[in-house]
Amino acid sequence: MQAAQLLEPGRFEIRDVATPVAGEGQVLLKVVGAGMCGSDVHLVRHPPKALPLPLTLGHETTGRVVELGPGVTGLNTGDAVLVAGIWSCGTCPACAEGRDNACSFWATRTAVPPGPGLGHPGGMAEYMVAPARSLVPLGDLDPVTAAPLADAGIVPSHAISLARRQLRPDATAVVIGVGGLGHLAVQILRATTACRIVAVDVDDDRLAAALDHGADVTLRSEQAAEALLDLTGGLGANAVFDFVGTDDTLEIARSTVATYGAIVIVGLGGGTLHIHAAPAPIKRQSGLPWGVSVQRPYGATRRDIAEVIALATAGRITAHVQAFPLYAAPEVLQRLEQGHVHGRAVLLP
Ligand code: NAD
Ligand code: ZN
Repeated sequence: MQAAQLLEPGRFEIRDVATPVAGEGQVLLKVVGAGMCGSDVHLVRHPPKALPLPLTLGHETTGRVVELGPGVTGLNTGDAVLVAGIWSCGTCPACAEGRDNACSFWATRTAVPPGPGLGHPGGMAEYMVAPARSLVPLGDLDPVTAAPLADAGIVPSHAISLARRQLRPDATAVVIGVGGLGHLAVQILRATTACRIVAVDVDDDRLAAALDHGADVTLRSEQAAEALLDLTGGLGANAVFDFVGTDDTLEIARSTVATYGAIVIVGLGGGTLHIHAAPAPIKRQSGLPWGVSVQRPYGATRRDIAEVIALATAGRITAHVQAFPLYAAPEVLQRLEQGHVHGRAVLLP
């Protein structure tokens, strides 16, 4: 079968590989949709040393059940499923609470718990095997448009869940970077809060789309800091979700967050946020206001996955999908890197 594999740093190609076989507790899936994430760009350019190469990428997958391995029950051939992107131990105290993203077994062994496209062969292939525990039935959801939910949906949902206390009806929430993850963050905020939602990006088309997805205000990144303070009478935003994570965007977050607000950093842009333990400055030229919480979530919990599937099933959120054939994967990666993907690119093997 064909698979899009990372061979060495910067070398991402379509190759012929053996079709996998479902082992004990595993399920063989025919891949329906494999989303391509900003994280795949980081992985191809700077793969962590521990990553076994060659590796089939793809941590955002939906598929149909082809075969159940020994010991698997509760699924049927033909079922459409979403593949959770974190394959944790399943038994530690964090996993027992459904917090697979905080698995304590893996915390001392790898930078992140393993998953498809992150240690195990991922979804950018015609077939894949996945542990039965990682599969979430999609019911009547279309597995093509549902594919982005497996990462671009659940990660923003988790990020938003961490700032619920700040997301009161009179609050202002800011989403920096309304691409793959951010366009769903705007929809989840719209569906689950009454906040004023401000979308920030460097791309006018994405800002226009954010208005369709439920944003109240859009701002170009360069003007965002000043405009946000104007919009909030100098008080700042109650929650700032940064889906970029560069020095520039972290500075927007730092300089515009309100007293007792939340900064949630999802993007892996390599920037630095300076936290200065000194009295809070009035003019916001440095440091943070009193009471601000800063969080840096990874992935999502099983609860977040259930909530995202529920929102999508109720028609409250819909990923904007640009579909491509599997063989185009290397070209799609370049498009993503150059900012030429709108919504989420999904490969259809
Ligand atoms: P994407 O390329 O689809 O979207 C990025 C968006 O940010 C684009 O709309 C782009 O125009 C915008 N942008 C770029 N520079 C900007 C700036 N200076 N100001 C405002 N907007 C700017 O990427 P994505 O797939 O949505 O991923 C976003 C980030 O989230 C990536 O860094 C990815 O690695 C990270 N990520 C983190 C996790 C996690 O668990 N923490 C999970 C998945 C992805
Ligand atoms: Zn665990």
